[in-house]
Amino acid sequence: MTEIAALKHLSARVGSDPLLVQAAGGNTSLKTDGVMWIKASGTWLRDAEAKDILVPVNHAALMAALEQNDPACEACTDFIRTDLNAAGMRPSIETTVHALMPQRVVVHVHCVNTIAWAIRADAEIRLAEKLKGFNWAFIPYARPGLPLAGAIAKKLRPGVDILVLGNHGLVVAAETVAAADALLGRVVAALRRPVQALTPPDHARLALACKGTGYSPAASDETHALATDSLALARGKNTVFYPDHVVFLGVGVATEIASEAPLVALAGIGVLIHNTAKPAIEPMGRCLADVMRRTEPQDSLVGLTDQDVDRLTNWDAEKYRQTLNATA
Ligand SMILES: [Zn+2]
Repeated sequence: MTEIAALKHLSARVGSDPLLVQAAGGNTSLKTDGVMWIKASGTWLRDAEAKDILVPVNHAALMAALEQNDPACEACTDFIRTDLNAAGMRPSIETTVHALMPQRVVVHVHCVNTIAWAIRADAEIRLAEKLKGFNWAFIPYARPGLPLAGAIAKKLRPGVDILVLGNHGLVVAAETVAAADALLGRVVAALRRPVQALTPPDHARLALACKGTGYSPAASDETHALATDSLALARGKNTVFYPDHVVFLGVGVATEIASEAPLVALAGIGVLIHNTAKPAIEPMGRCLADVMRRTEPQDSLVGLTDQDVDRLTNWDAEKYRQTLNATA
């Protein structure tokens, strides 16, 4: 198997694990012969083998621009190797993260166990205990694009092959796909957290609530846990903990059908998804429940600020990704 085929295989596997990747989140890349092949914006990693989702980027040109803090690094479209980009796709909004890691293979995931640590007030201290023996760095939250690139550049030391992105996720890097896969497994195992048992939804009351509305019950009990878990809704209702939440679900979580929101969590009963909701909505609802079920009542959690939320929702590259996910 070629390295690019191996990367596609790993991408599809990682992209099919809801504890690692949800919807169009996460991305992978491979640097070879001066070209960095990176997941296209708005595509789903789980489709990596079924569809062409990799975009070729001129790595040296992107690195030179990053050195200059060039605004072209926000969308990275200026660095596409158009001669190799038959499908005409745009690179991921997190392309700069991959470019900055010197290793050939980079895997970035929104691992729920990692996020459950990365949203804590004491994240860096607790992660240092858990990742003892690994060569890692903690990157405080910054908006993807140039701000996150700057935050990574500041903390990157020779040999670092793991980044934990505050209020965001995990990056692992290695010289081969097999080594990146193995490292991902070791880090995820080290960061695993105890999980609250699932409380199943009240199907009868959900059916009643849906009658005459455009809503249907969510498909999985893991998603319903957003409404049935004692902590999940209380904590997730008004706080945005990581970027993809606000991008797909908006600020907080709707708790009444009257709002016409794509996802409604009826406290103690279950979760409803609007029939017109994008395919990303249920995975995003489940992700929040999965993260919250891995926190404990005494944990002190930190959300994104109003300013963070503003900077995300008004970012042009993110708006482009949203237009793709309206149909994807
Ligand atoms: Zn990310």
